[in-house]
Amino acid sequence: MIVIENVYVVTVSGAEIPSGYIAIDGDRIVAVGAGAYAGEGERIDGRGCLATPGLVNTHHHLYQWASQGVTPDGTLFEWLVASYRLWARMDAEVVHGAATAGLGWLAKSGCTTASDHHYIFPKGRGDLFDAEIQAAREVGVRFHPGRGSMDRGQSAGGLPPDEVVESSDEILAETEAAVRKYHDPSFGSMLRIAVAPCSPFSVSGRLMVESAELARSLGVRLHTHAAETQDEDEHCREQFGMLPVEYLESLGWLGPDVWLAHCVHLTDTDIQRFAATGTGTAHCPSSNGRLGAGIARISDLLRAGAPVGLGVDGAASSEMTPLAGEIRMAMLLQRARYGPTALTARQALELATMGGARCLGRADEIGSLEPGKLADIALWRVDGFYSAIDDPVVAFAYGQTPPLARLLVGGRTVVENGELRTISDQTAAKAGSAAHHRLLQS
Ligand SMILES: [Zn+2]
Repeated sequence: MIVIENVYVVTVSGAEIPSGYIAIDGDRIVAVGAGAYAGEGERIDGRGCLATPGLVNTHHHLYQWASQGVTPDGTLFEWLVASYRLWARMDAEVVHGAATAGLGWLAKSGCTTASDHHYIFPKGRGDLFDAEIQAAREVGVRFHPGRGSMDRGQSAGGLPPDEVVESSDEILAETEAAVRKYHDPSFGSMLRIAVAPCSPFSVSGRLMVESAELARSLGVRLHTHAAETQDEDEHCREQFGMLPVEYLESLGWLGPDVWLAHCVHLTDTDIQRFAATGTGTAHCPSSNGRLGAGIARISDLLRAGAPVGLGVDGAASSEMTPLAGEIRMAMLLQRARYGPTALTARQALELATMGGARCLGRADEIGSLEPGKLADIALWRVDGFYSAIDDPVVAFAYGQTPPLARLLVGGRTVVENGELRTISDQTAAKAGSAAHHRLLQS
């Protein structure tokens, strides 16, 4: 038994507790309350700290740690075309190193559950999917990798060069094999697989439809990119005669088992369809800013009741973005566009926790601090400089994110005093740097 005590608890699901405790038995939370906990157990003193649920990252491309800083000023399509040439050369070693650094960096900014979207599998370069799963085991975070894919190369009217695409049959067989090998549906699972074709402009309609059928027959979730830029609207109109969300709906790609990255350019009808079908959005504000994609209609989605989580997106389109920082970025961008009440600090924190849990289909396990849920907990130091602000949630969300005192994943310490404890900071940083050099020199 572990007891975190004397801590300000933001449960997210219920009332905040200004001075209370969280009791943990094994990988579960068994009690949350005000005052002192009467039972036995190892004590963690949470004085001066804010306890939040561990943060959930709903969109990433971990391999991109190895190609950060490429095309720093291009549009999405320009950036993609330049990046594909590099990505075609990656191998399992690059992916393992990049994922180690990327997941370590996420943990250091409060992330306890991370999804990933890996969609490039160059032939003869080792088992790239297994490489990132190994990295997640070493870092110690809950992992939701999506087996991605592209089958529409340039010769078929798509954007990626032919050498990075696979055939639809190959993709479906490999995806099914990955789900059967790795997916663990049990309560408290550390590893769940999603089916994740890359995007409507790199994947055929047939593969989108058959991917959805496959995922539903295997009982796993669906993920892809949607409505990220205006270029994509034009591409979809030209190629399919409809807007991106209309196209996705025609392929069976809206529903409570689907979450979509970006969703910047949504119509009022799209928003209603997301809410009615329970389709989730992975909001990636830094990436949207970096690529000039626009500001997503998050406050409208929330008002309609649609699930929304936060994501850092691949490190090549939002270099070194910390997940906790996306809480601030989401809040500021919504306010810049819609006014000062568009998104509160508490709503933004909810996106990063319960919102993400809903997107990943784990609202009954993670995303809030309550008995019966998994002990995925972040403790933030809101004393010192931060103590001049009375409301610790404002202290946490408005400026630079305060130091991370402790991160627990299923009751296990992954970060302590800002540093990784499962692997070391040095190991993670070196792995990322080595992956970058290996990719650029290959
Ligand atoms: Zn992405």
